[in-house]
Amino acid sequence: MTRIYTFTNQKGGVGKTTTVVNIAAAMADWGRRVLLVDIDPQSNATTCLGVDPRTLPSSIYDVLMGEQSVTEVIRGTRWPGLDILPSAPALAGATVELNRIADPRERAEHLKRVLASIDDYDYLLIDSPPSLGVLTVNALSAAHAVIVPVQCEYLALEGLAQLMRTISLVQRGLNPALTVRGVVLTMYDSRTTLSRQVAEEIRKHFPRQVFEAIIPRSVRLSEAPSFGEPGIFYAPRSSGALAYRMLTWELLRGDGYTPDWAPPAGEATVQLTTEATENF
Ligand code: ATP
Ligand code: MG
Repeated sequence: MTRIYTFTNQKGGVGKTTTVVNIAAAMADWGRRVLLVDIDPQSNATTCLGVDPRTLPSSIYDVLMGEQSVTEVIRGTRWPGLDILPSAPALAGATVELNRIADPRERAEHLKRVLASIDDYDYLLIDSPPSLGVLTVNALSAAHAVIVPVQCEYLALEGLAQLMRTISLVQRGLNPALTVRGVVLTMYDSRTTLSRQVAEEIRKHFPRQVFEAIIPRSVRLSEAPSFGEPGIFYAPRSSGALAYRMLTWELLRGDGYTPDWAPPAGEATVQLTTEATENF
């Protein structure tokens, strides 16, 4: 069975793209077949996998508009098992086109229909834009579950509460089977009280939904996109890479697949706990 996860948060710059790219990379590295679906006109996930969105002959835009078949547009990457359905700036135009469709279900299920024809992957991971517009609604309609990256900063909880309300609206209308697969705490800075407080507060409100693994603030993760590489390959020994490995390990195990992996030597005592990840 192919699992479809949408990475979403209407707040910008919280680590959606960094998270989906690194999870996709770690999954592929552990033998899962993964298609990263970029439905953000910013095309950051596409760039992070070394594909230049400006020079692509076709993109997810052409697929959504019915002008190309999805298999024509999917591209391989440098990394075995990791493919991309790329975005391009033209995708911004799709918002206008889709909003012209009067029927809400018809409007919201374009991506779902496209992805229904794909069955060669273990995972379809969708990176969505920082808005609750028609592209994000398409990404929520198409998914089995959402993964929500949350930056450990002031007002994170308010944004999260708003997102949960949106998700329940989608559950009531378009996609009753949609679940929350988990909340990922990102850009955690163990030196600040604020980061610690926000992480604690989010765990308190969503006790069963927050992943144990926490992603620290890591310069190496922020450098990786300019090299067109996921952080876990660009700087495999960095704290950020290790944290994304642990997160992916936790996710895959929860899905019933245990990768043959242990934290690298010297990190062997690291447990999937808040306290331990602070020391990265
Ligand atoms: P958008 O809403 O614009 O799509 P996003 O939610 O996808 O943004 P990212 O693009 O992943 O967020 O991250 C925003 C910025 O923060 C990027 O410059 C990224 O490199 C950086 N960043 C993400 N995660 C980390 C981290 N753990 N440590 C340091 N920098 C990070
Ligand atoms: Mg993004």
